[in-house]
Amino acid sequence: MGKIQVGDKHFIPFITAQLIRQEVDRIALEISRDLAGTRPVFISVLNGAFVFTADLVRRLRFDCQISFIKLASYSGSTSTGQVTELVGLNEDLTGRQVVVVEDIIDTGITMGKIIDILRGKGASEVRIAALLFKPDAFMGHFRIDYLGFSIPNEFIVGYGLDYNGLGRNLPDIYQITDES
Ligand code: 5GP
Ligand code: MG
Repeated sequence: MGKIQVGDKHFIPFITAQLIRQEVDRIALEISRDLAGTRPVFISVLNGAFVFTADLVRRLRFDCQISFIKLASYSGSTSTGQVTELVGLNEDLTGRQVVVVEDIIDTGITMGKIIDILRGKGASEVRIAALLFKPDAFMGHFRIDYLGFSIPNEFIVGYGLDYNGLGRNLPDIYQITDES
């Protein structure tokens, strides 16, 4: 793993695919212990969470459903803090155990909004699974039930996360750098 360029920015290796795999294994184990038998609905937040979701759910050996939602709060390399409508959710969530699956929680604005909407749809409980968390940027009032990594407040790409649409396919996670 060496330094890479994505679009007009340079990135250095940050979290290896192997380390990600370990954490996804651990999260899958925790979720299995807590929620096997509740037939939960996993709601993956597109686009970024598609890789994490695919890896996570393939480690679960109990009945569950998987659905996808989409909303936009981000453009370029700084959060706009703006969240639009949630689209794509067709499941009836009344009385259901819900687990929202996110790639990264930054300010928490996106997730806060999603939680409100899902509770409004009658979910019995909404839990949060996030691969990455930026505690220094966080302004939310919710708990992250299942978390992979707490990371510094620096822009990252890879494993589903993009920079202007590029870099989602990288198996490892990279952090932005000023050096070129
Ligand atoms: P929040 O609403 O928590 O501030 O932002 C959450 C969303 O911002 C994430 O789902 C993700 O799409 C995007 N985001 C936050 N930090 C990063 C980052 O370092 N890299 C990338 N590619 N996206 C990020
Ligand atoms: Mg996301």
